[in-house]
Amino acid sequence: MTSKKSATLAVRAGINSDKHHGAVIPAMHLSTTYALKGFNEKRQFDYSRTGNPTRATFGQAIADLEQGAVGIVTSTGMSAVHLICQLLNTKDSIVIPHDCYGGSYRLFTHLAKRGQFKVIVVDQNNEKALADALSTKPKIVLLESPSNPLLRLVDIEKVTKQCHTVGALVAVDNTFLSPLLQQPLLLGADIVFHSTTKYINGHSDVVGGVLVTKDKTLGEELAWWANCIGITGSPFDSYLALRGLKTLPVRMKQHQINADHVADYLKSHDAIEAVYFPGFTDHPGHEVAKRQQSGFGAMMSFEIKGGVEAVKILFRKLELFTLAQSLGGVESLISHPSTMTHAGMEIEAQIAAGISQSLVRISVGIEDIDDIIRDLGQALSASQL
Ligand SMILES: *Cc1c(COP(=O)(O)O)cnc(C)c1O
Repeated sequence: MTSKKSATLAVRAGINSDKHHGAVIPAMHLSTTYALKGFNEKRQFDYSRTGNPTRATFGQAIADLEQGAVGIVTSTGMSAVHLICQLLNTKDSIVIPHDCYGGSYRLFTHLAKRGQFKVIVVDQNNEKALADALSTKPKIVLLESPSNPLLRLVDIEKVTKQCHTVGALVAVDNTFLSPLLQQPLLLGADIVFHSTTKYINGHSDVVGGVLVTKDKTLGEELAWWANCIGITGSPFDSYLALRGLKTLPVRMKQHQINADHVADYLKSHDAIEAVYFPGFTDHPGHEVAKRQQSGFGAMMSFEIKGGVEAVKILFRKLELFTLAQSLGGVESLISHPSTMTHAGMEIEAQIAAGISQSLVRISVGIEDIDDIIRDLGQALSASQL
């Protein structure tokens, strides 16, 4: 299977797998329990928290796309992040990026406060800070590239090599790009995970997560924990996410075409102080992005002139963009990281991560680009009056 191209794997996932009826699309199995064939004669599945055919099909599809050994479907993106914590003992430490997803930051720092493990927060582009953190021999290093909301890049291959020299496992949050645009396991990482709530499902109607390991034994250990603590994803969510996955390749193409236009438009607009988008040749991570990604994605953020007052007017005037958290759906969304996605970070941590009050993040949807630009244009003009 893995010799097929990503778009083929996404579209064909689970197709023709029904041996009973020849259903082209795999059925959704809601049954919580599965009959044994006889005394102590188990089938592949016995109880749905542990294993479910619909969830297994979706997990295998993502494992194939990431070219990993085991795919574990979780109830949310955060439960995929939390699953990684099961690998940590009280004396172990995990290194996390200073600008990681707000919910991940909140989870790691709060569990560390309760003594479950140690957390070291670093700017992973600061070579000295990263080297210092690695010299403490952490068990796990978490990477997120591009980062949220400033779209900073980390050289996954280079940092992974450094981490492996001290024996650390590398886990990458690949939510912003999806396996279509970046495959961290092929860059050396040990674990990759997604909030499938975002691009993979793509229709803003499922909250879910998935984690893929390169190594089978590590995957089996984490699958054991996912069942033990009860965070596996529901069959219905798995069914919908698998359905969403099939159009991921075409959605991603259109997202990126629109994003390129929006980024150029924002860059040329008088109301904008700065635009953060890895597709720009002057973006500090541009070369790394070109090397490790097969596209620049459709997420960007910008600083608007006039501070938070201008942000408020912009949000009030926008008609097409929806003011909402989340990202990666077909619809264009706009948000204010400081008070929304990153509200779980203390204000000092936000400042350290470069998140200002005038920072606005957008997830560019796949509506007609003329309508997107027209909407941004009228609202940006109004914000400066
Ligand atoms: C949304 C998100 C998460 C958390 O996922 P949920 O599905 O909301 O639990 C983790 N990482 C990133 C980068 C995200 O965008």
